[in-house]
Amino acid sequence: MGRRGGGGGGGKPCALWCEGIESCLCSPGQMINLLDSKASQGELRWLSYPLHGWEEISGVDEHYTPIRTFQVCNVMEFSQNNWLRTNWISRRSAVKIYVELKFTLRDCNSIPQVLGTCKETFNLLYLETEQEEEEGGRGGGGERDRDSHFREHQFSKIDTIAADESFTQMDLGDRILKLNTEVREVGPMTKRGFYLAFQDVGACVALVSVRVYFKMCPPIVRNLASFPDTVPTDSQSLVEVRGSCVNHSKEEEPPRMYCSMEGEWLVPIGKCLCNPGYEERASACQTCRPGFYKSALGNAECAKCPPHSVSHHEGALSCACEKNYFRAEEDPPSMSCTRPPSAPRNVISVINETSVILDWSWPEDTGGRRDLFFIVLCKRCQGQPLRCVPCRSKVRFLPWASGLRNTTVTVTDLLAHTNYTFEVEAQNGVSGQAPALRQYAAVTITTNQAAPSPVTVIRKESTSRNSISLSWLEPERPNGIILDYEVKYYEKQEQETSYTILRARGCNVTLNGLKADTAYLLQIRARTAAGYGASSRSFEFETSPDSAFSMSSESSQVILIAISSAVAIILLIVLLYVVINRFCCHSKSKHPDEKRHFGNGHLRLPGIRTYVDPHTYEDPSQAVHEFAKELDASSIAIDKVVGAGEFGEVCSGRLKLPSKKEMCVAIKTLKAGYTDKQRREFLAEASIMGQFDHPNIIRLEGVVTRSKPVMIVTEYMENGSLDSFLRKHDAQFTGIQLVGMLRGIASGMKYLSDMGYVHRDLAARNILVNSNLVCKVSDFGLSRVLEDDPEAAYTTRGGKIPIRWTAPEAIAYRKFTSSSDAWSYGILLWEVMSYGERPYWEMSNQDVIKAVDEGYRLPPPMDCPAALYQLMLDCWQKERNNRPKFEHIVSILDKLIRNPGTLKITANTTSRPTNQLLEQSGSEVTSWDTVGDWMDGMRTLPCKEAFSGVCYSSCDTMPKTSTEDLKKVGGTIAGPQKNIVSSLKASLDTHTKNCPVPV
Ligand code: AMP
Repeated sequence: MGRRGGGGGGGKPCALWCEGIESCLCSPGQMINLLDSKASQGELRWLSYPLHGWEEISGVDEHYTPIRTFQVCNVMEFSQNNWLRTNWISRRSAVKIYVELKFTLRDCNSIPQVLGTCKETFNLLYLETEQEEEEGGRGGGGERDRDSHFREHQFSKIDTIAADESFTQMDLGDRILKLNTEVREVGPMTKRGFYLAFQDVGACVALVSVRVYFKMCPPIVRNLASFPDTVPTDSQSLVEVRGSCVNHSKEEEPPRMYCSMEGEWLVPIGKCLCNPGYEERASACQTCRPGFYKSALGNAECAKCPPHSVSHHEGALSCACEKNYFRAEEDPPSMSCTRPPSAPRNVISVINETSVILDWSWPEDTGGRRDLFFIVLCKRCQGQPLRCVPCRSKVRFLPWASGLRNTTVTVTDLLAHTNYTFEVEAQNGVSGQAPALRQYAAVTITTNQAAPSPVTVIRKESTSRNSISLSWLEPERPNGIILDYEVKYYEKQEQETSYTILRARGCNVTLNGLKADTAYLLQIRARTAAGYGASSRSFEFETSPDSAFSMSSESSQVILIAISSAVAIILLIVLLYVVINRFCCHSKSKHPDEKRHFGNGHLRLPGIRTYVDPHTYEDPSQAVHEFAKELDASSIAIDKVVGAGEFGEVCSGRLKLPSKKEMCVAIKTLKAGYTDKQRREFLAEASIMGQFDHPNIIRLEGVVTRSKPVMIVTEYMENGSLDSFLRKHDAQFTGIQLVGMLRGIASGMKYLSDMGYVHRDLAARNILVNSNLVCKVSDFGLSRVLEDDPEAAYTTRGGKIPIRWTAPEAIAYRKFTSSSDAWSYGILLWEVMSYGERPYWEMSNQDVIKAVDEGYRLPPPMDCPAALYQLMLDCWQKERNNRPKFEHIVSILDKLIRNPGTLKITANTTSRPTNQLLEQSGSEVTSWDTVGDWMDGMRTLPCKEAFSGVCYSSCDTMPKTSTEDLKKVGGTIAGPQKNIVSSLKASLDTHTKNCPVPV
């Protein structure tokens, strides 16, 4: 029944099987006393029998605290059987009981003259009862009494208790009492209480203290779950106990623990988590302190409020944003509070007829967010004071108007000659919450003149054998007042080799004189002050079949009717012819529905009017008055001189025409003392300019010929000529801006070539730039190529030609065409991309002619987009028919504008286009061992010559090329040194990438 205990209940290690298992945490069991003899202040009054057996004696313990002890020492007498019984002890809920005895025991050997009756043990027994027994009196004599008192036979023995340490008389003399402590387990108990008994059979023993206790698992909080005090109930197994989450926490997994028989908690399972706003501190969930927050269930600590947010109260689930700072719905509470971005910067506009490219920089302050995007708002403005309304829904934005991630947008389908304001706003995820803090940058523009859009709807009204009546709807975007329509038609099978053109004032026309039963193709285009718009697509119509062949012979009645109708129609036509003829004579000047025939397609039919050479006029002043408006000198006010022309000064001033707003103009004057020839040549420019009407051609306002000085008045271009403008703003424009300018020039040139006009002196110096960066082609003097241009030089054939800009065939045999203009455009493109660098630097004209003839071409300017350098090379094709037409150039540039990303690939960093390195023979140079070879490969003569002067000979020496050396190179070729050096440096950098770098 009894088992030997482990000596003392507390501080015992966990169960052996638990060792090494991390989750197997033990806590010492709690001991609950059922009896403690030491705690009793008075007599214990335990039952003792017989009378001279166990005696209750007062004493002191080792700490000199008064205690009650029981002693017996009848070692000199035989047959000792002395019983001592405790009072009844309730076991409460305990199942297993521990008895701790402290006692001293005399060593029998140390007692002289004992007769062999001396014992060194005593017995510990117990008796379970449901209640306290009736007492029959204390002490007494016989066997029967003992039994009636003790019911000795009912007691169960727990154990025989022996001393670990007994003591001798000597010890006593030395006052050394050797105290023994023994613990015994009893159980499982089943009745409500029990007695303990100590049976002495002849020992000398003193019971110093008796303690009876049971073990219990104490109340505990583990993993934020509290477990109640638990008494182990079953001696064999562990008791599973469910914990309950502490305040302000939630169960993640049901918390459980096991209470062992030793009163130890084992194997905690599951846990609770602190609610939002609470963190775990001292085994409890406690509120977050002000300035901290916790947004989610969990055992994380409360976090400090992120930047620009605060929490003033305890237990914050999140921190509130400071004033003017916000959090987007999807922002986590750990993210800083943010604000709307500042306005985009540096908004610029490049206007192209009725389109505009808007380009801007990122705002200085993104508001602390990365989800930035842009919105462009379009407003049409008019009147004084300016009133703005949202743009029509037809206005298109490429790629779109809102949610833009890039810093550019193209707006098309605007109205011509109209003021617009564009508001560009940067937004981020919190802009919606702070309408008052939103900022935008605005740019106001005025669109240019633009040709009308094509006619899209054409309807057949009626057809007969020889005529077709048609009507159509005005183009969707007339872009101005439609002056007339051009109707071009031809027999379908003739394939446009022969066609007829009619002009119509209104939206209908009747085509007469057609062949019966024949298919015709027809195109219509509208004309405004800006010129012709694009032609409609081809519409097909058929005349009626010849009725004589198609009718049935049986239908005599029908034939009769037809014949009589025909006769009537003929009569009517004759009558009409007479009437119309008369009418036409009167009204021709009013409604000139002109009709022109072009046989066999030999006559050029340009997209717009044909240019008329004023030289073909016998009297050039007649040409001036045909194409230029005579102005009254009093309507012109001259302000200042802005330049010098061949015939006199160029001034800026103002022109005020009746019922028109005053405008800024440039005034070219003819200096005094001119000859007749000079006057003719001076005014010839106006005669030419007056024929053009295009947003990228300088516009003639009029001439003053009837008073002196003779003047040509044109629109004023605030930024002057393009070459000096670029030099002044070296490297200050974005790629898209430069391409925008180039696109304008190409568009002007397309117009000129469509008109059949060959410019012959296209160069940056002959392009003027206005305040909106719109570039316009100028300089149309007839003599300019011969006299005016300082760049022009005499060729071997006697003509004066701007060699560096002119195509080889034009230099060699004066073959000036739109294709030679395309060559010049390539040079102009090079000038623009190098910010006004002089083509071929200071090479002599003769060297340039020779080099170009041998297949050398200019290298790409520094940072030049590869696509633009490719375009230059295409323009510099020796075979003129292989050069791109201006229409093609415009579309290439349009594509670049639509895909600005392509501008990032530069010619200096990518492998060069192959034809750049080809001689006309087609041999390709791909690698170079020496700089000389490379120069040959590059076909960049000036560089080669320059380098030969500083003796760079191999790849090894290339990386050592110093700025001094480069300056030296620059020094050998006079001119704007910085650009020469940088251009050469760029070329060098490209080359050195192929060289092994010396260590
Ligand atoms: P030109 O005789 O046309 O070559 O003009 C000589 C110089 O006068 C040009 O280089 C410009 O600087 C200036 N100029 C000519 N026309 C204009 C204009 N329409 N607006 C502003 N400046 C002009």
